[in-house]
Amino acid sequence: MIHVHGYLGELSQATRDLAATAALVVGGRRHLAELGVEPERQVVLGALTPALERIGAADPNDDVLVVASGDPGFHGIVRRIRLAGHEVTVSPAVSSVAAAFAAVALPWDDALVVSAHGKPLDAAIAAARWHRKVAVLTSADGGVRELAVALPARTFVLAERLGEPDERVRVLTAEQASALDDVAEPNVVLVLDGVPDDPGLIAAEAPRDRAPGAEPVVGHLVGSPAACRRADEIDAALGVASRRYDGPAAHLLPLAWRECDLIVSHLALGATTRLVAPLLRSKVTDPGVVVVDEAGRFAVPLVGGHAGGANDLARRIGEGIGATPVLTTATDALNLPALDTLGWAYSGDVAGVTRALIDGRPVLVEKTSGWPLPPLPENVSSDADDPVARIVVTDLAEAPASALPTVTLHPKSLVVGMGCNRGTDIAVIRQLLTDTLSEHGLALESVAAITTIDVKAGEIGFLKLVKDLGVPLIDYPADELAGQEVPTPSALVEGHVGTPSVSEASVLAHGAELIVPKQRNTDATCAIGRLPARGRLSVVGLGPGSRDLLTQRAQTALRQATFIVGYGPYVKQIRDLARPGTRIYASKMGTEEARTAAAIEAARAGENVALVCGGDPAIYAMASPVLEQGTEGIDVEIVPGVTASLAVSAILGAPLGHDHVTLSLSDLHTDWNNIEKRLHAAADGDFVVALYNPRSRTRTRHLPRALEILGAQRGPDTPIAVVQQACRSRQKVLMSTLAEFKPEWVDMNSLVVVGSSTTKYVTTGGGELRMVTPRDYAWMPKENA
Ligand code: SAH
Repeated sequence: MIHVHGYLGELSQATRDLAATAALVVGGRRHLAELGVEPERQVVLGALTPALERIGAADPNDDVLVVASGDPGFHGIVRRIRLAGHEVTVSPAVSSVAAAFAAVALPWDDALVVSAHGKPLDAAIAAARWHRKVAVLTSADGGVRELAVALPARTFVLAERLGEPDERVRVLTAEQASALDDVAEPNVVLVLDGVPDDPGLIAAEAPRDRAPGAEPVVGHLVGSPAACRRADEIDAALGVASRRYDGPAAHLLPLAWRECDLIVSHLALGATTRLVAPLLRSKVTDPGVVVVDEAGRFAVPLVGGHAGGANDLARRIGEGIGATPVLTTATDALNLPALDTLGWAYSGDVAGVTRALIDGRPVLVEKTSGWPLPPLPENVSSDADDPVARIVVTDLAEAPASALPTVTLHPKSLVVGMGCNRGTDIAVIRQLLTDTLSEHGLALESVAAITTIDVKAGEIGFLKLVKDLGVPLIDYPADELAGQEVPTPSALVEGHVGTPSVSEASVLAHGAELIVPKQRNTDATCAIGRLPARGRLSVVGLGPGSRDLLTQRAQTALRQATFIVGYGPYVKQIRDLARPGTRIYASKMGTEEARTAAAIEAARAGENVALVCGGDPAIYAMASPVLEQGTEGIDVEIVPGVTASLAVSAILGAPLGHDHVTLSLSDLHTDWNNIEKRLHAAADGDFVVALYNPRSRTRTRHLPRALEILGAQRGPDTPIAVVQQACRSRQKVLMSTLAEFKPEWVDMNSLVVVGSSTTKYVTTGGGELRMVTPRDYAWMPKENA
């Protein structure tokens, strides 16, 4: 068995007794001599590794005594013996650290102990920078002088040869300590923030508390030069003077936790989490912690998102260094649109305005044009009382002056008509453009297009300009331009290109209102028009019902909508995707006309409208009535969806594998005679038939009649299937034959698929029945076809 005995000053009787009988005694030369250990039982301690080899080689039944100076727990030997897998007993003693603190009568339950035995002093220096009371176990090649140079504002207690007759304890300023030339080994150094009589040092470290309104204390936990640079960058961006915790994170994070209101950890998220976990107390008092990755790409609030201020800090870091804040708290998944991601140019105090937006404080919207904004929460409006921030939508270069934090958004609303002599340099063209814009206070960012005459479409100066601006060059033929009524026609121009105006006429041809008539310099002309604000109407297909069959495009349209309108159950299906502030109008069955009218009206008023339909919006749905009702003055987009027949086809197998038709059995909008005519045609053509709106509570006669018509030309074994609530939680599938089929299986939420003469059932490898209409491939075995 191995026994490690500590000692300070005096060897105990127990140590002496064991030394007399042990097979091996390990210790310093002087103590081995004092214990009277014969050379063959001695292992002289200097380096640990050879000593460990001797210890390891000893018979486990023999006693081995290791004499360690101070407390063995402050000595690498116990660690090394245990890690080597040996059993060990430890007899404690007064450690040099305890003795040093005792020498200056300082309690040390609040101290930090850092060993610099065989290690560089960096960790100790870093710890002492932020901790008021640090004991450093020095080593021969790094000691008090180095500490004093690095920590010029600290007081040093140098305790040398503790327990020895020549023990000495000195209290020194940094200046004195750095100039020492008589340091004796071994020694321990206490690095103190003040003299040992300082009451603040005697009192226990107070828990973190801060006067309300005081600037929060920010600390960076760094561990590499790169992290230090990043911390500098963050501080500069935030305009704060932070604290640095540079060194062993396991020591320093708890320190930072006590001293800071906000901690930026430059360690990995996992490492930070492990260190933070044991410190967590309450989200009200814990500091906020933000982890910034090595590359500075992400700022992740780990704890204290709200009360701790970590979300806010992550956002500010994001803006400061171009990192993405990864916010996971509920209000930040709030789904609020980011002002800088609308696709419009922006300028101003994005952070300030976003803050107000998120905090639910009143934000004023000022629009100089009716360009639709994305949905904004209730606190944002054009008549906000006592606003704390402002969003200005304008194509003017400057927002009207205001003391409020402001974000200016520039919609693409300007059209610039231009003409020029052949070969005019881009610089000349650009100069005219920027001069004209700035003379009229207009924003370059709002330019949506450059327009001109077709003969100038290849003009190199124009091509370069539109490339630089990132806008299209749109050209019109001379005769179309000649037809425009313009304020500044020119006979000279007409003589050259066949129209009296290029710049003004092309602006008008593009549908814009002329706001700046023709301006010119030596070689170019320029006129500016403003496009009328256009609302937008998206007719959005939601698919059969399950979220994974809702297309990405549909989701985008829903998120951008300020107004969502549709039949109640469809609206319910996607309600969660609507952003806060989106108006929602869920209408009843049979109010299609009112629904369409409401959607168009809102779009005309400048809103982003989503009119939602189940399945595809053009299949027995709202796209046709919308387009028919007239969409003057608005932009219309049809967003396709997975229609019921496709969803049902996939569930059944491949019934639509060859020519097929869809028919609606609803005679609400179609004369029944017409429907019958088409049923006959489908029967004649031997088409697979998908029957939409097959049967309602009141329309029970139609389905049997339809099957009668189709059955007249198809055998009784013809497959027929019904799928109710396809892709919804209550999905139900019934596969049958014309002979056995019961119309009662069908309701309004069903789609009926009647096979053609070639449609058949097959069994899958999993033993399931599937409906298949063969494609008549020549290579398929005939008996199966
Ligand atoms: N625009 C829709 C069709 C609207 S007509 C689309 O493209 O799917 C309404 C009819 O569609 C219903 O009576 C039913 O026959 C069919 N239908 C729509 N969704 C369905 C679903 N999930 N399961 C089964 N049938 C559905």
